[in-house]
Order: sequence, then structure tokens, then C-alpha cells
Amino acid sequence: MTEPLISVRDLTIRFTTDEGLVTAVDRVSFDIAPGEVLGLVGESGSGKSVTAKALMRLNAGNTRYDEKSSIILNTGKEKVDVLSLKKPNDLRIVRGGAISMIFQEPMASFAPAITIGDQMVEQLLIHTEMTKAEAKEHSIEMLARVGIPEPARRFGQYAFEFSGGMRQRAMIAMALSTRPKLLIADEPTTALDVTIQAQVIDLMKDLVDEFHMAILFITHDLGVIAQTADRVAVMYLGELVETGEVRHVIREPHHPYTQGLLNALPKLDNLEAALTPVPGDIPSPLERPSGCVFHTRCPVVFSDRCTQENPELLKDNKGRLVACHLVEEKGVQAEQKSMTKATVKPGAKKKSGTKKGKAK
Ligand code: SF4
Repeated sequence: MTEPLISVRDLTIRFTTDEGLVTAVDRVSFDIAPGEVLGLVGESGSGKSVTAKALMRLNAGNTRYDEKSSIILNTGKEKVDVLSLKKPNDLRIVRGGAISMIFQEPMASFAPAITIGDQMVEQLLIHTEMTKAEAKEHSIEMLARVGIPEPARRFGQYAFEFSGGMRQRAMIAMALSTRPKLLIADEPTTALDVTIQAQVIDLMKDLVDEFHMAILFITHDLGVIAQTADRVAVMYLGELVETGEVRHVIREPHHPYTQGLLNALPKLDNLEAALTPVPGDIPSPLERPSGCVFHTRCPVVFSDRCTQENPELLKDNKGRLVACHLVEEKGVQAEQKSMTKATVKPGAKKKSGTKKGKAK
């Protein structure tokens, strides 16, 4: 079995605020293998970006990591405990070195008064042994590789002189120029129109093969994940609620929240069909519900267990992990059909489900 490129275990992140300590991420564990694309999905406020930023230690100064949390990065030469890195020089191993990140709005990533080319060269001089001339040549090659026409001329331009799609391509070129092992893509296509979005997704898929890098692809859109990812991890209010291979999760989502996200997508075979959004809004992390954190919006709440007991993330024999009492009581491999048909009533009699412990 391939050793993971990065292993996240029991990641719990809290922020100190004027209102007190707020839990943004709660005991999240996952691995990403070399060359794998993992989709991290959930609504705004689900903790996806906070989780991703933790891999590069980019969260703000009021961040607290629980002492049991660990993020182990395998650079190929050594295993680095990312959460133990303190000094800016040590953090270079992850920031712009083994890990790069691209964001939804590239304007925020490029300095407006410095040319795209100078920013690319500066990053290469910091993270590689290249000379300035080599860094310039490599940057122009990367701009050409991501499909920017006249790359030598574009190299000398500023971010505001690029269109939205071009800026996103330039950001991808800059992020990949240091050959990271992991690219974190935080909603990289959300701000783009649909045709440009498809081009950027195609480009990213090509680059994964060519560079053999892994991607952590963050989005609220399961449709995008279906096109890009090998596996998907669904988050809700800071917790992982379902993970598995994309084709299994999309075809047969087990968790009611994953089902809700899929029901909210337009159906290409029936464009007249009404979209069914997940009811209500995600609660504030300051007011985390008791029991299952999804119970305030779950359409199939079925027993006191839902409101009183936080479900464990349990694994089935296909490697799918799901945190839901209903799925547990039906057997984690419950058919999606039988689950959505279940006529369950609040306060239904509690069964004595087998405790399987927390799966990793
Ligand atoms: Fe819904 Fe209960 Fe499952 Fe939570 S544990 S998702 S409330 S059925």
C-alpha cells in the first residue's frame, strides 16, 4: 500500500474570539496519497478552508490546535510534523515548497504593483536553487504550459491586465512552478464563468497526471468534485460526516447531508425539476447543536440518539466512512434507496447498535 503523502489525525482547531473559544474543526482525520485528488466538500462555514489552511499553517494568530492533532507530511526525504513547525524558515518546507495553494480570487494572491513575472521569479529564488535567468525562463515556460498566449509578453504584465480566467491560469502556473507534491485548490473555479470553469478543471486534471502531484480540491459543489476527484470527504460544521470513493459516494450517498448536497444540484436529464436545497442554514459554530451536529436540518431525524449522541465515523467493508446513527443502525452498507424510503419518526424506539469505535 502506498504511504500517504499527508496524514491528518484528530485535527481539532479552535479560535479565540471575544465570545470565547470557538470550535471550527472537530477531530478530522484523512490521508491523501501521492497523485490523488481528494475533494473536500461542504457549505460555507463547514470548516473546509480552515482545515486546508492548517496543512500550511496559514490560519490566523488566534488559532489553537488541540494537543492530539497531528499533520504528518512525507516530503520523500523526511516526515515533517507540520503543527510542530514554528519558525518562518521551517515553514518554508510546506509553504510554497512541498505544498502550494490557489484561491478563488487570484487578485488577492498577486501583489497589484509587481508584475506577474517578478512574483513568479521571486518565489522560485526562495524555494529552488535556480538562478534569476533560469527562474525567468522556467516561469515563461509555466505560463505557456497553462495556456497563456504570448507568455514572454504576459510575464511582464500586472495582474489587473489579465482576464479572470487568465489570472486563475497564472496563479496555477505560479503555484506549480516549484513542483509541489500537494496543491490545495480552494474554490478555484467558483468565481469563473461556466466555460472558463470547465477549461480550468481540464487543465488541472492534465497537470495532475503530468506533475504527479496530489490535490486537495475544496468546493461547495459536488458536481465539480464528480469531474475532478478520486475520493471525497464531506464536512459539516467542522466535522467529517462521510468519506469514500467519489463514484460510490455520488451514486449512493449514505449520509443525509451528502444526499441533500446532491439533491441541490441541477439534473441534466431533467432541467425542469425543482432543486431541493438542504433546509435551513448551517448553525453558528458558537451554537453547536448537541448530539449529531446535523440534526437541526436533517430530514430523517429518527431517535433521541440524533439529538443526544454525536455519531462515530464508522467504516464499511468498502472503506466508506459515515457518521450517522440511522446508517449505523441499518448497517453502514444500507442501500440509498431503502434509506431515503425509511419512514422514521422522531422518538422511534432506540436499538442497541454495536459500538465499533472511531475509524481512521
Ligand atoms: Fe440525521 Fe440522525 Fe443521521 Fe444525524 S444521526 S444525520 S440527525 S439521522
